[in-house]
Amino acid sequence: MIYIHIPFCYSRCSYCAFFSTTMLEMRSLYVDALLKEYAMRQDYLPKGKKIRTIYLGGGTPSQLSNKDLARLLHVLPVDEAEEVTIEANPSDMTEAKLKAWREMGINRLSIGIQSFDEGMLAWLNRRHGSKQALKVVKLAQDLGYDNISIDLMYALPYQTMDKWKADIETAIGLGVQHISTYCLSYEPGTPLYNLREKGLARETDEELANEMYAYLCERLKQAGYVHYEVSNFALPGFESKHNSRYWDGTPYLGLGAGAHSYDGTSRQWNIDNLKKYLRDIMNGKVPFKREKLTATQQYNEQVMLGLRTSRGIEATDELLQKAQPYLATGKLRVEDGKIIATLDGINILNTIITDLMRE
Ligand code: SF4
Repeated sequence: MIYIHIPFCYSRCSYCAFFSTTMLEMRSLYVDALLKEYAMRQDYLPKGKKIRTIYLGGGTPSQLSNKDLARLLHVLPVDEAEEVTIEANPSDMTEAKLKAWREMGINRLSIGIQSFDEGMLAWLNRRHGSKQALKVVKLAQDLGYDNISIDLMYALPYQTMDKWKADIETAIGLGVQHISTYCLSYEPGTPLYNLREKGLARETDEELANEMYAYLCERLKQAGYVHYEVSNFALPGFESKHNSRYWDGTPYLGLGAGAHSYDGTSRQWNIDNLKKYLRDIMNGKVPFKREKLTATQQYNEQVMLGLRTSRGIEATDELLQKAQPYLATGKLRVEDGKIIATLDGINILNTIITDLMRE
């Protein structure tokens, strides 16, 4: 599988601490660099293995022109991939772009909607409005996209349970195949964090955030969505193939500034500085750092990733012993030889994971 990081954003969202830049004038140069990096790293993944998924993430990949995106996808093994996803901002989703993406082989959209409430979108400093979000989902569906994911955020400033319920109903009403949800976190240095520090934005208390999550899980289950990972829900058969493979520990190649790669025994990450990345790649060098994973680190990663999914982790004697207090209190359960987190357990998942890890 291949992940490509497109770090460009037209404007910055108030909560965002991800690596991204508004230097849009660098986009074509960046695609040149991605192509060069791909050529240099052909040997990274095991030879002869089919590339089954390609994921364009960001940043905002929908900020690339059709010409630049076509240059990139023309070289990547799109034909052999079953799933080719692009993360898209509703403001960029014109009919011309949506048609062109399909022709390029993109068959899955991940749309950053976050909320259908104008007030919430304003807090987040998103570029799009609610009506636009609804319009582009329908447009994409009319154009034949049948694997659409949307992102929704909760625990937003001054968001009530009723507003959250309304967002969930709108998402269900749209008939999208996949919903990813995120609990807002206030990251130091972001505008939203600064507003909260000044007392100008009220953080949702933990109890309400937990209630919002519990309601989400219940309502989406009723609506036929499978809760297959802590933050992800899909209609049967529409689980993200790409993300599911991350959680399974499948090796992947990550291209672009800030992108991570995994070869089965070590992780490496490219420098998250656009200018340095471009300069090094153009000089024939991939700027990255690597960490060889010890057996304990690999084991702990499996515990962490497995417990986030509905498939859980193998119930070995070692894990069963450590999990005992959580099994006794209903935070974990055992099914078909797997240990799986319950809804109660998900609320304290980080603590559980830490307790189940090896030292
Ligand atoms: S679009 Fe995504 S990456 Fe860009 S600023 Fe907003 S949250 Fe951050």
